[in-house]
Amino acid sequence: KNYTKEDIRQMAIDDDVKFLRLMFTDLFGTIKNVEVPISQLAKLLDNEIMFDGSSIDGFVRIEESDMYLIPDLSTWMVFPWSSERGKIARVICEVRKSDGEMFEGDPRNNLIRVLDDMKKAGFTSFDIGPEPEFFLFKMDADGKPTLELNDKGSYFDMAPLDLGENCRRDIVLTLEEMGFDVEAAHHEVAPGQHEIDFKYADALEAADNIQTFKLVVKTVARKYGLFASFMAKPLSGINGSGMHLNMSLFNNDQDAFYDETGDLQLSETAYFFLGGLLKHARSFTAICNPTVNSYKRLVPGFEAPVYVSWSGSNRSPLIRVPSDRGNSTRLELRSVDPTANPYLAIASVLEAGLDGLKNEIQPEDSIDRNIYRMNEAERRENHILNLPDTLHNALKDLAADDVMKEAMGEHLYESFISAKNMEYNSYRTQVSQWERDQYLELY
Ligand code: GLU
Ligand code: MG
Ligand code: MG
Repeated sequence: KNYTKEDIRQMAIDDDVKFLRLMFTDLFGTIKNVEVPISQLAKLLDNEIMFDGSSIDGFVRIEESDMYLIPDLSTWMVFPWSSERGKIARVICEVRKSDGEMFEGDPRNNLIRVLDDMKKAGFTSFDIGPEPEFFLFKMDADGKPTLELNDKGSYFDMAPLDLGENCRRDIVLTLEEMGFDVEAAHHEVAPGQHEIDFKYADALEAADNIQTFKLVVKTVARKYGLFASFMAKPLSGINGSGMHLNMSLFNNDQDAFYDETGDLQLSETAYFFLGGLLKHARSFTAICNPTVNSYKRLVPGFEAPVYVSWSGSNRSPLIRVPSDRGNSTRLELRSVDPTANPYLAIASVLEAGLDGLKNEIQPEDSIDRNIYRMNEAERRENHILNLPDTLHNALKDLAADDVMKEAMGEHLYESFISAKNMEYNSYRTQVSQWERDQYLELY
């Protein structure tokens, strides 16, 4: 919505807002808040709120730590829950440097930049429909999550098995109160696992929505004594949590991926975009699957993709073309998990697709058989590559791809790669229980 400053002032009075949460997202996708009392509203609307950016991961060097928070008024939203002292509104902010220039380490600013490139390439919007999955764990007396799941339900199970149902309904109602258009909510395959799908939106709004969504899910779950986790693979032996991204490019009100006369009724634009996605799939994996743990989800047997391939009919590949056509024609990328920074993930897949268009990259043929039944030789014959199997290998691919550097901008790209290499090294030097179980007594 296009709110004016006057609209905001009025809504703050009408809704009796007492606190303002100024939100932005750091390099790792964590939502950061600066909370100020409503008395600071005038200052906020005049772009005069400053904060110290030096303590934020992936932000600045100490010498330029004063940063401005510039509110994006269209993101004004009053939380339906309130603190003891009144209502809280949030507004998502753009981070600017003390000289007023756009700060290139802000992932949201970066997505805006990539969306501008898309407009230069002749499109009006990139729409994203996310399918985030998460687990609900019971909490202990200290409010810490346990590994005990809240139910033993499975896909589309009905109560009484599905004890998370009341919690999930509350989440859905809260989201609706906040203006979300929730399309589906269901129990997922694993016990304690849920999925809530909300309506697609333009890339920037979709990324904002994902961030808000996580906050709402976690907040509501707490009311039920549950801890909601978006970790990619919290438990071994059962499905992990993905966040499939449905994507389409629009030209005003025309879905640019649709062509009635094309192969599978897909346009040349769709094929080139797909070609770009497949070409850069290994290198955007570190961005879309950014934790050590993400790679424990990308293994055979748990409905998560393992190979770089696409299909118009099969459910298992990396990229799937859901059967809807016309203005619902879209590509569904199934590797992304909910630990990804949504601003970076969306920027990376858009840049990959645009590279496909610019260089007219033809995708390999679709694979409509079950890839998991092929042996290695058959996969090689069909030119099917693996997705990276560790964060370490994913980072090597990311570091070798200039298109991904363009997608993130140099600042974010360099900080991301170095921070994630440190994360991997910290993991690599730990000795785990699995190793002791295997080797301690044997040798
Ligand atoms: N949980 C699966 C994953 O890890 C996805 C299940 C589904 O197809 O929705 O991606
Ligand atoms: Mg699902
Ligand atoms: Mg899906």
